[in-house]
Amino acid sequence: MTSKTYELLLSAAADAEVVDTHDHLRPPADFGTPMTLTSLLLHTYVAKCIRRPDGSTNGIGDSYEDLIPVDYPNFAEIARRAGLSSYFVWLMRGVAELYELPSPIIGPAAFEKLSVELPKRYADPAWIPTVLDKANIREVVWDPFWKPGTTHGPDPRLIPSMRINSSVVAFHPDASDYEGTNLIRDWADPLGVSVESLADLEDLIERVVQLNLEAGARSLKSALAYQRSLHVRPAKRSDAARIFGARPDRITADQRDVFGDYVTQVFMDIAQRHNLVVQVHTGLARLGDSSPMRLIPLIEAYPNVVFDLFHGGYPWVHDVAAIAQNYPNVRLNLTWLPQISTEVAVASLKEWLQVVPQVDRISWGADCHTVEEMYGALLAARHVVARALADLVDCGYIDQDQALVAVASVLGGAGKSIYRISRSR
Ligand SMILES: [Zn+2]
Repeated sequence: MTSKTYELLLSAAADAEVVDTHDHLRPPADFGTPMTLTSLLLHTYVAKCIRRPDGSTNGIGDSYEDLIPVDYPNFAEIARRAGLSSYFVWLMRGVAELYELPSPIIGPAAFEKLSVELPKRYADPAWIPTVLDKANIREVVWDPFWKPGTTHGPDPRLIPSMRINSSVVAFHPDASDYEGTNLIRDWADPLGVSVESLADLEDLIERVVQLNLEAGARSLKSALAYQRSLHVRPAKRSDAARIFGARPDRITADQRDVFGDYVTQVFMDIAQRHNLVVQVHTGLARLGDSSPMRLIPLIEAYPNVVFDLFHGGYPWVHDVAAIAQNYPNVRLNLTWLPQISTEVAVASLKEWLQVVPQVDRISWGADCHTVEEMYGALLAARHVVARALADLVDCGYIDQDQALVAVASVLGGAGKSIYRISRSR
């Protein structure tokens, strides 16, 4: 069913220089030593496929069915249950290619080979750079969510994107965001500052942002959709100053939101001042209030700030396209979408290319913790880009040369232009 055009565009995609505009690649030691297949799977989206209901409100609870640890019988059962999900399909294609397995369908012999190879590769400090080279990745916009503000990762191609979540909960050092972090706990001591007031917190934010700028940061990251509404209301500094210091068990939900609204504005002002892109997780998270439409008041309040809307706002893939058409300061990011649903990603990309008024406004990122899943995500992205554009060529909508321009743009050119990545880096 694949056309000649698809084959040609897929090979162009495989040759394209890639800018991965959103990823989490963790240092190898974070996975435990020695590395195991259990640890690999638990650090991929496949873990979502074997979740037990646990009352989680944002889709990321970590209570799993009885298939852990992952020995071969458990692996085969996970493959049987989750084998049709895009998460599983692309992870296994990535693994098969990187570990030279005969097929992405992993039998007992391949399972054994992988179990032996994984710890060896993870013991080699060159493993992550090797995979980034093989993937043709030039730069990675990197979100170290386990300690927002961290500037250096396991490869020099990683450019930090400071996550704002740990700051919007920093009304008290004992409060935590949904990942368990707090800017005061993470940074006050290492930077030798004491945070006793909102003004001190604002200074701390400035200092950590400064470190990120010195490390080449071009963006900030908001994953607020996992912990609160995307709707940010205008908030007064005096109200936030009064709330500062409230103990997490004493603060009301409304005060939490007001404080978060104010700190978000602090970051928007920083973005405006330093010309930083604001990357926003939209869709899949707390589904009640993660629709990209909820972001409109913020987008309108900061017309000089570029907002990069992530994940196609899935399931609101049409909504993000409409937003990008209405607001010239909005960009769209395919990140994670090809792994959520490859088919939706193909359909979305076709629609976005028609709706978003200019080329170089749609980029891609892998959004993974491990290089194995990142590599699989890139294979997914190449497939999505080639299929979407082959459809548009084969039905006579555009010609092949236009399609080739779009392939290079989505995989690399757009990321370079949106994140002002220069050749000199
Ligand atoms: Zn992410």
